[in-house]
Amino acid sequence: MAGILFIISAPSGSGKSTLVSELRKQVSRVDFAISWTTRAPRGSEENGREYHFTSRDEFEQMIEAGMFLEHANVFGNWYGTSRQSLDEARALGHDLLLDIDVQGAAQVRVKMPEAVSIFVLPPNPKVLRTRLRNRSRAEGVVIEAELYRRLSEASREIENYRQYGYILVNDILDRAVAQMEAIVLAERFYRNGESIAYRSRRVLEVAAACLQSNAQERLKPVLEAFGILGNSDQRELNFEEDSDDD
Ligand code: ADP
Ligand code: 5GP
Repeated sequence: MAGILFIISAPSGSGKSTLVSELRKQVSRVDFAISWTTRAPRGSEENGREYHFTSRDEFEQMIEAGMFLEHANVFGNWYGTSRQSLDEARALGHDLLLDIDVQGAAQVRVKMPEAVSIFVLPPNPKVLRTRLRNRSRAEGVVIEAELYRRLSEASREIENYRQYGYILVNDILDRAVAQMEAIVLAERFYRNGESIAYRSRRVLEVAAACLQSNAQERLKPVLEAFGILGNSDQRELNFEEDSDDD
C-alpha cells in the first residue's frame, strides 16, 4: 500500500515537534524524516535523533550531489530533507512526516502535489512567546536575540497558511494530537481505503473540521492576533509574556 507524505509547518515554538512525537505514540506506520541541519544541537538533542547535525561545507556538498528532496535557509542555518528518508519510508510502505518550514513545503508541493499539508498555529502571540521561552529555559539557554528572531518571523510564516490543506490550532495539546491523528486516519481511509476501527464517523468529522476551507471562523481570532487579518499595515503584536501558559 502506498505511503502518504505529510508535511507539517508552523512558526517555531508552536508545538510541532511535541505534536509529532505524541502522534507517533498513537499511530503506527508513520515515520519521521530526520532532517539535516547546520544549526548547533539544542539542549538534550542528539545527532541522528532530532536532526543529523552537520557542517556548512558538508551540507553544501550534499546540495551539489542532489541528495535533498528540499532544502532551505531558516534563521541563518541550512535545513534539508534527504531523498533517502522518502525512499526508506516508501520501501516499508509507511507514511512519512516532514517537519519543514514554509519554503521547504513549497518545494515539496511542486515535486509531490499529492502530499498532505498541515499548518499548526499557536493560539496567540503571547502563548508563542511563553512556549519559546519555556523551551529555552528547559534547555538551559535563553538567547534573547534568537527568541526575538523566531517571534518576529512568526507572522510572516503564518501568512502562508492558505497553502496548507489542514490547519490546527495547538491550544490544548490532547485536542491537537487527536486532530492530527484524525487527519492521518482520514487520509488513509480516503486514499487507501483503510478502515478506521474506532468511532470512524467521529474521526472523519474531526478531520473535516480541520480542513482549511472549514476552519475559517475558528481561525479568525488567531489570525487577527497575529495581524494577518484586519489592518496588517498597523501590526502591533502583543508578545508580552503570558505566565499562565506552560
Ligand atoms: P516546535 O517544534 O514547533 O518548535 P515544540 O514542540 O518544541 O515546538 O514546543 C515548544 C514548547 O511548547 C515546548 O516547551 C513544548 O513542551 C510546549 N508545548 C507544545 N505544545 C503545547 C501545548 N499544547 N500546551 C502547552 N505547551 C505546549
Ligand atoms: P528548529 O531549529 O526550531 O528545530 O527549526 C527551525 C525551523 O526549521 C522550523 O520551522 C522547522 O520546521 C524547520 N525545519 C526543520 N527541518 C527542516 C528541513 O528539513 N527543511 C526545511 N525546509 N525546514 C526545516
